[in-house]
Amino acid sequence: MPEGQIVRALSGFFYVRTPHRDIRCRARGVFKKKKWSPLVGDWVTYEETDATEGWVTHLHPRKTELVRPPIANVDQAVVIGSFLEPKVQSELLDRFLVHAERAGLETVICLTKSDLLPDSSEEKALREIYEAADYPVLITSVHTGEGIEELKRALKNRLSVFAGQSGVGKSSLLNAILPSARLQTGEVSRKLGRGRHTTRHVEILDLPGGGQVADTPGFSQLSFGKMEATELGRCFPELAERASDCKFRGCLHKNEPGCAVREALTTGEISGTRYRHYLQFLEEINEQRRY
Ligand code: GDP
Ligand code: ZN
Repeated sequence: MPEGQIVRALSGFFYVRTPHRDIRCRARGVFKKKKWSPLVGDWVTYEETDATEGWVTHLHPRKTELVRPPIANVDQAVVIGSFLEPKVQSELLDRFLVHAERAGLETVICLTKSDLLPDSSEEKALREIYEAADYPVLITSVHTGEGIEELKRALKNRLSVFAGQSGVGKSSLLNAILPSARLQTGEVSRKLGRGRHTTRHVEILDLPGGGQVADTPGFSQLSFGKMEATELGRCFPELAERASDCKFRGCLHKNEPGCAVREALTTGEISGTRYRHYLQFLEEINEQRRY
């Protein structure tokens, strides 16, 4: 039976992409019984009832699964911050990064609106923080076109979601790499309530140079939910890398003796800014567990 990927879901229909056309499918009742329903991004087996319609009969195992917005098989998060309007906050970037790591995604950081940047000191400082953690950093501007080709390359051969606070320029970047997306930007989009994802459906867009991107930003919910304190360290790759050398298993890298993370901090191999955010998030997780 034929296979394809669900690229859109609307009013009980799942649109399965095939090389020729999208097939509008319903899902077999068995999914309802299992309380496991198909998601945009799912690879499925389907049964054609005619040239344009059919039934989803089987879901293939998911590589990854995002909850808000619901989308399966995302490979990569592009975490976006803008140099100005709004000025990038590394704390917020780190929150997005933790959520991307937790979801098992590859991550690229994109710092945009570089045309608004008076000098490159801010850029250098941020680069240092994130490259020390081994995150690729792209600098872009939709006005000057800086970095747009690099961004396109980073999106090839994978399904990506853009993430970042409202107004950083996610829709503008998407429009720059895929003009046919025609996403609304700026004030208009906010008045129409883009970003309130409950009212919007997610759609996967195919990029001309290869690769796919979701038209709705990822991680609209940034609370740490039921995260365990020990899980947080695994969501900071540069901490996770050193944790195996900590004296105690389950070391939270706060003030335990023989902590390899704190050691790397004193030598400057781990950024103090990232570590500070780690401690802050740890505190938040502990607070949440108290209630
Ligand atoms: P989103 O909420 O993250 O999707 O952000 P938008 O794409 O809607 O952009 C928010 C505002 O930033 C809009 O007024 C855009 O015109 C502006 N903007 C987006 N990208 C750039 C850029 O590269 N340079 C400058 N100067 N402004 C930008
Ligand atoms: Zn430690």
